[in-house]
Amino acid sequence: MGESKDSEPSDTAGTPVGVVGAGTMGVGVAQCFAAAGHPVVVVDPDPAARASGPERVRAWTRAARLLRGQDSGPVEERVVWAADLDALSGARFVVDCAPERVSLKEEILRTLDRVCPAETVFASCTSAIPIGHLGSVTGRPERVVGTHFMNPAPLKDTVEVATSAATGEQTVRRTLDILAGLGKKAIVVGDGPGFVSNRVLMLTVNEAAAVVDAGTADAATVDRVFQECFGHATGPLRTADLIGLDTVLDTLAVLGRFTGDERFRPTPLLSRLVAEGSVGRKAGRGFHPYPSHRSIVPPRPAGADTHV
Ligand code: NAD
Repeated sequence: MGESKDSEPSDTAGTPVGVVGAGTMGVGVAQCFAAAGHPVVVVDPDPAARASGPERVRAWTRAARLLRGQDSGPVEERVVWAADLDALSGARFVVDCAPERVSLKEEILRTLDRVCPAETVFASCTSAIPIGHLGSVTGRPERVVGTHFMNPAPLKDTVEVATSAATGEQTVRRTLDILAGLGKKAIVVGDGPGFVSNRVLMLTVNEAAAVVDAGTADAATVDRVFQECFGHATGPLRTADLIGLDTVLDTLAVLGRFTGDERFRPTPLLSRLVAEGSVGRKAGRGFHPYPSHRSIVPPRPAGADTHV
């Protein structure tokens, strides 16, 4: 497995952490680590994402203080923003929050494998790409694990931790320890496209969109059925809007590729909404309108469903 108990570092609040991608998940994940005292380097090639990063971290810190009474000090001062993966050469634990595209994540992991020390754990926030696949492009598959944070990461307590057949026991231990330090609970699952959460959720979202496309009910009614009949907090289509319909489409493509299952072929309505830019809450419109929700911090979806 290439892991030795004696040489394995323990990950404390001082462990330097890297986050790849400063989007919806990357900023939330970076805030979680920084709030727990980790020095964090966030890498994103997009200058606009880097420029808006500090304010978005501050906004989540305010939200965590208001909604959870969390007082974590000057969180944003613990976060550094960089354009290049070379900046992660000192990171001992890296979380990939780059877009859900297989070739992009492969390229990022290959680069990280060259740049980071041998003991660095690569944790991916992928929604659906099998962890065994991601590990196989590195020379350290035993140190590759899935940390599927939920959205919004600073306000969601549980992380789906996905382990491949190659993921080492020490890597799982280090991952659970570091998550515990963030105050997160972990649910450990095996490997497979979409793990548990998105294998089920994406099919539900796709079918919910098909029901709307067929004219059986509008989006509000579909969500009401799930809220009022099944006790779901938001319903599948508001959940999809929170995730981002572009990310939903990418995730369905990954699920289709790795399962070969036609059921993951996107419903035409979903493709149409993404093509016209109605990608959900972050765009102000998706299955539902969000006229005043162009905020960098989405309002807390109280006890919301599990998100990709
Ligand atoms: P996003 O589109 O909001 O952000 C992605 C960020 O990655 C962007 O800022 C982009 O500039 C940056 N990026 C692009 N190429 C890069 C590169 N080569 N190196 C570093 N950064 C790069 O996406 P997101 O919603 O934050 O999703 C990120 C990952 O988390 C995906 O794998 C997604 O499936 C997963 N995920 C998403 C959610 C959700 O609800 N949105 C929940 C859990 C997991």
